[in-house]
Amino acid sequence: AQVVQAEFVKSSVRTEDCPSDGLPEFALVGRSNVGKSSLLNSLVRRKRLALTSKKPGKTQCINHFRINDSWYLVDLPGYGWIDMDPLWHRFLWFSYASAPQELRTDWGKFTKDYFINRSTLVSVFLLIDASIPAKKIDLEYASWLGQNQVPMTLIFTKCDKRKKKKNGGKRPEENVKDFQELICGFFQTVPPWIMTSSVTNQGRDEILLHMAQLRNY
Ligand code: GDP
Repeated sequence: AQVVQAEFVKSSVRTEDCPSDGLPEFALVGRSNVGKSSLLNSLVRRKRLALTSKKPGKTQCINHFRINDSWYLVDLPGYGWIDMDPLWHRFLWFSYASAPQELRTDWGKFTKDYFINRSTLVSVFLLIDASIPAKKIDLEYASWLGQNQVPMTLIFTKCDKRKKKKNGGKRPEENVKDFQELICGFFQTVPPWIMTSSVTNQGRDEILLHMAQLRNY
């Protein structure tokens, strides 16, 4: 299940513009700063592959990376600017406001369209920061995916981080347990979940194995 080849293919603004070769794909999504690019780089064992999708203008796009010439990893725009501290928020609001009109109006709307209409999407990998307490916006996102019957895997990030008072004073394992209990309110069953760290590479092989199993279904 290892990655031997990874290449950036394209950035798309609409679902219709995504690659049409029918290869199966997995989408990574999560709050801004959750550790999405770090995880992407750790999965493909490269330091800078995800840099392509961090370029200005590309962060609001659907970014396709072809793996081993047989499936795609898809980097989706981050959500949850509102959670950031006010100064950052003001700065980002400024960049957001200066984004082209078509991007501004499509923000969020097109990712929902992608989730519902992308027929080759095997599963959404929803990234949750395990170093902080559960966030409302993450629970809302998970519940939206659940309600729309989009297959999902929960990826808990930053599991190497020690507990900090300012982050609620809980260990990553405790935050993960809390999140799962909260999510039980929305689902009959808890979605599959994997604990990861891009620092120690914890969970990397587990994710790749899980993806291989889902592809062979
Ligand atoms: P993105 O905005 O979701 O793409 O997040 P990044 O990958 O840029 O990471 C955001 C911040 O979290 C950076 O400062 C990273 O160094 C840090 N980070 C990401 N993954 C981990 C992790 O597994 N462990 C720790 N301790 N920090 C991480």
